[in-house]
Amino acid sequence: MEVNKLLFGLFGKHLSHSFSGTYFNNKFITQNIDAEYKLFEIEKIEKIIPTINKFKNLKGFNITIPYKTEIIPFLHNIDESVKNIGACNTVKIIDNELFGFNTDLIGFEILLNKSLIDTPEKAIILGNGGAAKAVKWILKQNKIDFLIVERTPKENSINFDDLNEEHFIQSKLIINTTPLGMFPFVNQFPIIPYQFINQQHKVIDLIYNPTETEFMKKCKNQGATAINGLDMLIGQAEAAWKIWDV
Ligand code: NAP
Repeated sequence: MEVNKLLFGLFGKHLSHSFSGTYFNNKFITQNIDAEYKLFEIEKIEKIIPTINKFKNLKGFNITIPYKTEIIPFLHNIDESVKNIGACNTVKIIDNELFGFNTDLIGFEILLNKSLIDTPEKAIILGNGGAAKAVKWILKQNKIDFLIVERTPKENSINFDDLNEEHFIQSKLIINTTPLGMFPFVNQFPIIPYQFINQQHKVIDLIYNPTETEFMKKCKNQGATAINGLDMLIGQAEAAWKIWDV
């Protein structure tokens, strides 16, 4: 690669189905920018600094599963978004120092605004991993109370088996943050009592591939409206682009 060419990239463990490579490389071509976006698969987070040091023209990068939290000790500076939720998905390199941001927050807020006409009082969040951190933060900002459902419940969450009709009467927004149904496991879906979902429910699935998940189909069959995670994906990528200021 030419040394003068600007370099951006994505760090993660398994990146073969990554959206970002195609998205940013297309942007560079259409906007006539001499830059490249590369995928860096690393088997542990400790490999990140030697890799960054090898590519002197690296100006910024994204981080994905499973390193969004593990990256934090390696950063020189973090902004409010990373401080608030304890996860980082975007880094800008300035004078060899790493500045961390979380643009999933911006992405999810865009998706939430697109899917809602009225703000519900309460939501059900399925799953409680990395992406759920951004979801919880944005719901709090929007004063939407939430119930977390996970397979190993903690003090403030419940098990999938404990979901009952009352929960669906109280919560008109249901957000899937589990990877159930994501390509290539498209036949999977969260096990919840779908019979309690009706036309009053708005459903958000953070999954964007396939465009309609089994979870979305099941909710739509009950009369709910459902949206996938594509707007969040594009929203977080566009926010990273602004931060890098290419
Ligand atoms: P993660 O940190 O691994 O968290 C996944 C969550 O799902 C955990 O709570 C996990 O529970 C739960 N889960 C996994 N398998 C399950 C199962 N069989 N039954 C019940 N719960 C299960 O992953 P993540 O980063 O949050 O990503 C989750 C999904 O969101 C992925 O599909 C990802 O593509 C999508 N996502 C989309 C966007 C976007 O821009 N649209 C952004 C971020 C993420 P345990 O803790 O018990 O394993």
